[in-house]
Amino acid sequence: MAVTPRCDVVIIGSGPGGLAAAVTAKREGARDVLIIERDKELGGILLQCIHNGFGVETLKQDLPGPAYAQRFAQEALALGVRVLTDAMVLDITPERHVFVTSRHGGLAELEAGAIVLAMGCRERTRAQIRIPGTRPAGVYTAGTAQRFVNIEGWMPGGRFVILGSGDIGMIMARRLAFEGAQVERVLEIMPFLTGLTRNYVQCLLDYGIPLELSHTVKRILGNRRVEAVEAVQVDAQWNPIPGTAEIIPCDTLLLSVGLIPENELSRKAGVALDPVTGGPYVDQGMQTSVPGIFAAGNVVHVYDLVDWVTEAGYVAGRSAARFALTGEKPSRDQVRFRAGDNVRYVVPQVMDKESLTQAPQRLQMRVVRPMEQKVWVEVLNGDELVARKAERYVRPGEMVTLELPQSAYDTVRRAEALSVRVVRR
Ligand SMILES: Cc1cc2nc3c(=O)[nH]c(=O)nc-3n(C[C@H](O)[C@H](O)[C@H](O)COP(=O)(O)OP(=O)(O)OC[C@H]3O[C@@H](n4cnc5c(N)ncnc54)[C@H](O)[C@@H]3O)c2cc1C
Repeated sequence: MAVTPRCDVVIIGSGPGGLAAAVTAKREGARDVLIIERDKELGGILLQCIHNGFGVETLKQDLPGPAYAQRFAQEALALGVRVLTDAMVLDITPERHVFVTSRHGGLAELEAGAIVLAMGCRERTRAQIRIPGTRPAGVYTAGTAQRFVNIEGWMPGGRFVILGSGDIGMIMARRLAFEGAQVERVLEIMPFLTGLTRNYVQCLLDYGIPLELSHTVKRILGNRRVEAVEAVQVDAQWNPIPGTAEIIPCDTLLLSVGLIPENELSRKAGVALDPVTGGPYVDQGMQTSVPGIFAAGNVVHVYDLVDWVTEAGYVAGRSAARFALTGEKPSRDQVRFRAGDNVRYVVPQVMDKESLTQAPQRLQMRVVRPMEQKVWVEVLNGDELVARKAERYVRPGEMVTLELPQSAYDTVRRAEALSVRVVRR
């Protein structure tokens, strides 16, 4: 096994999170920055997202996914970032040794000054949601179907039902309709939309594709190939409501039922994972619980917009370069964030108190249930209000952000934990 000299920063994954981290690490002065990507090209999931809607916040442009990725890939290459594609990281250690295998280089061990985890996430499958019925061909995750249609160039079916109102499912509903397929329905088990409202409008409403909330697939029918699904309405506990079952003929069922951050490598390195997000606990610099290992993008928590992933990549890349160059350690004086009323999780989960003396700090969160009336997003130290922001509404499919102002420093300095809640105005 080849052992190469130490790299300043090794980035695992070349999606928008990894690319942004590489660009900033280089700009911050890291000499040797290496991206390792298991795919043949740089860009991550964006390569199959040929629809537009990328970069509206960061670049003030509405780009297709591959164009967005290309901008960052070109920038990284121009800055001298090294890339190793078609190469899979198999293992990392808390001491930042990286074991990578590729057809060209065989198995190699690298030593990293700092590591950025940017492995993205994967889709939940039929096995994970346990849909009963036969096991015919014609059941795919929405992302797999997206790859077939947009990259491989073939249609996985002609008549579709989509389970789940996540963004990938809605985007695929429109894409398949473009290609002449019949999209019968999108079924959502929750009583609310789980993806972005803009995707509901642009992908379902505009194409006349019906969405049925509080509905699920009770059974898949068909032997060699899917012939129909049995849909049913559910109550608040997801129990089928008698008398509501309906057979919907179709030849393909697409699943858009959630994403899981890819953290097998993080676990191997001893990185502590948040059971709610499925990703590492991170601080304001995107440092995980293992010093020198940082994380960015969907590996931390599932983002709705690429712009936030890019921003997280910038933060992680900057922190990783500083760690590699100066051995900058996280402060021991940290405050934790707790999810309060109607908040599912908050990222970062911890923050160095002193970081607030340098700049305001952004918190990102998801709510548990929609609130369609005016709300306050509040940060509290016990009963004391630390910061708050007004929102017109909150929805689980749309990430909520709040900036903790520098003026909050005096209160934060005294706190061990701050709770974050969303309440009616
Ligand atoms: C279908 C879909 C549609 C979307 N539409 C929009 C939209 O319209 N607008 C918008 O703003 N956002 C959109 N998003 C969200 C946004 O694109 C994603 O949040 C973002 O691309 C995630 O970036 P990432 O870098 O975290 O992960 P990814 O892009 O998933 O990149 C992770 C990379 O890591 C690599 N990798 C994983 N493990 C290893 C390993 N062990 N060794 C080597 N490499 C590894 C993978 O091959 C992959 O290339 C969409 C997302 C999806 C999935």
